[in-house]
Amino acid sequence: GKNILLIDKLNKTKELSKEEFISLFETFNDEDIEYARSLACKIRDEWYGKNIFLRGLIEISNFCKNDCLYCGIRRSNSNAERYRLSKENILECCAKGYSLGYRTFVLQGGEDLYYTDDILCDIISSIKEHYPDVAVTLSIGEKTYQQYKKYFEAGADRYLLRHETANESHYYKLHPNSMSFKNRIECLYNLKKIGYQVGTGFMVESPFQTPKTLAEDFIFIKELQPDMVGIGPYIVHHSTPFANEQSGTARTTLFLLALLRIMIPNVLLPATTSLGTIDPNGQINGFLSGANVMMPNLSPAKVRKKYLLYDNKLCSGNEAAEFKASLVKNLKEYGFRVLDSRGDVAKYPFVD
Ligand code: SAM
Repeated sequence: GKNILLIDKLNKTKELSKEEFISLFETFNDEDIEYARSLACKIRDEWYGKNIFLRGLIEISNFCKNDCLYCGIRRSNSNAERYRLSKENILECCAKGYSLGYRTFVLQGGEDLYYTDDILCDIISSIKEHYPDVAVTLSIGEKTYQQYKKYFEAGADRYLLRHETANESHYYKLHPNSMSFKNRIECLYNLKKIGYQVGTGFMVESPFQTPKTLAEDFIFIKELQPDMVGIGPYIVHHSTPFANEQSGTARTTLFLLALLRIMIPNVLLPATTSLGTIDPNGQINGFLSGANVMMPNLSPAKVRKKYLLYDNKLCSGNEAAEFKASLVKNLKEYGFRVLDSRGDVAKYPFVD
């Protein structure tokens, strides 16, 4: 049908017009999803083989100065039990991760002003000093060009900052106070200019998302040319203003993952925790839609339940970094192999 032709066109030309994306997002059916998924797996195999990269995720703080309407650690959620990790705590997580074979650490957190630039640079350079062969990824929100540059010079290699939505009026429906759409986009271009490997992304079926805003997301991502794109279903958190909204689905997420792989063949594409939370087989299905990255949780056990972005967030089983052996075994059953490497973005097709 018409959608299969659009998927083929995306594969051939690596782009679609806004109208074409909108029409695809309005009308896709199960057959279109399966077609895109198998094409995406073929492309992932060409660039990465059956190799899956792991990142150890360290959730350094759930204090946040922002008030995103969807997020469980938003400033106004007075029910959230707040915590932050010290430099020593973070280095202990890295030691544990390193011994388990993790070669990328992702420091993620709310926008917590406790961490001054000096504190952050000290943490980053200490990690790189102890573990020169790891990649350090930051995911701590919006900062100035100068701040990003300082962290880069201290040794940070990568930065994850989801644009959340490429449609300005949609952006303000998700972030009505204090945040700026223009600044968030500018941050992404600043990060690229400084030399970071950059990840962006958005929540699938977030409140007020439409085929039109999604088309704009794809066109924005195509233009930014990020190294990584993180997408996962929006999931309700009970003490946010969006408590009565609908969560997103694995079905749509799997389709969009496949389309991202088709549009940017060498992109790093994680099977996210939220996908695993909404569907017990979600992450495996993500890998069967072209994903090639997973970010198990390396945070200290006692804080894991506190970094609650949404209800029922997974933090055990395959999601827990210490259960790597069972994750490896589980992935192997589906033909995948876990690599203990930094897992940088591929610049050439994969050769075994
Ligand atoms: N503060 C940093 C930032 O803004 O980039 C990093 C932490 S933030 C909690 C990481 C991501 O969590 C956001 O980019 C957002 O897309 C996702 N997130 C927040 N609330 C969510 C929810 N209810 N469901 C799914 N994803 C959510």
